[in-house]
Amino acid sequence: MSDIKAVLFDMDGVLFDSMPNHAYSWSHAMTQFGLAMTTEEAYMNEGRTGGGTIDILAQRFWHRNATEEEKQHIYAAKTELFNRLPEAEPMPGALEALQAVKDHGWKIVLVTGSGQVTLLERLSKHYPGFFSQELMVTSFDVKHGKPHPEPYLMGLEKAGVRAEEALVVENAPLGVESAHRAGIFTLAANTGPLPDKVLSDAGADLVFRGMREVGAYLRALP
Ligand code: CA
Repeated sequence: MSDIKAVLFDMDGVLFDSMPNHAYSWSHAMTQFGLAMTTEEAYMNEGRTGGGTIDILAQRFWHRNATEEEKQHIYAAKTELFNRLPEAEPMPGALEALQAVKDHGWKIVLVTGSGQVTLLERLSKHYPGFFSQELMVTSFDVKHGKPHPEPYLMGLEKAGVRAEEALVVENAPLGVESAHRAGIFTLAANTGPLPDKVLSDAGADLVFRGMREVGAYLRALP
C-alpha cells in the first residue's frame, strides 16, 4: 500500500457526527406520511438518495413508487425536522485522520451524498485548509447515488488517481459498497449502531471502532 496518493472521505458519520440527526428526522418524517421507518432502517439506507429511500418505503407500504410531489413533501418535512436539531459536532478523531493524510502528502477528496449548499463553509470552519471545491463530489455531481460506484469513481477522476492509489473512509454499508465496487481499498469507521458485520459484508477491507482508530491506522502507514 506504499503507492497511495489520495484518501477519499465520506462526510456524514465520518467527518461530522450528524447521523443521529439524519436518522431521527428521516424516521419521523417518513412515519408522518404513513411510511413507518425505524432509525435503524435509516442507518441501513444512509448514503442513498432521498428519493431512493422514499421509494423503498413506498413500495413496502403503498406497493408503488412515490410521485415526485410526494417525494418533495416528504423530503421537505425531513429537512425541516433536521434543521430544527442542533448542528452536528465534528466527529472525534476526524481532524487527526485528515492531518495524518496531509502529513503523508496525499490528496484529500470529499465524496458525499449530501447536497447542502453550506457544505464548503462548514468544512472550512471545522477543518480549515483540508478541502477544496475541485476535490469534492456532492449529490449535484452524480447521476447515481451510493451504493452505485459512480460517486467514488468520480472522486478518483477528480483526484487524477487510480483505484489502487486510493483509500476510502466510510461509515455506512451502502457507502462501503459504493467504494468497494469502485475497486478502492475501504476503511470502515463504525460510528453508528449497526454491527461491524454489516460493514464487512458490504465489502469493507478493514473495520475500525471509530475515527480515532482510523486516524491511528492512517498515521502508521508508510
Ligand atoms: Ca456516511
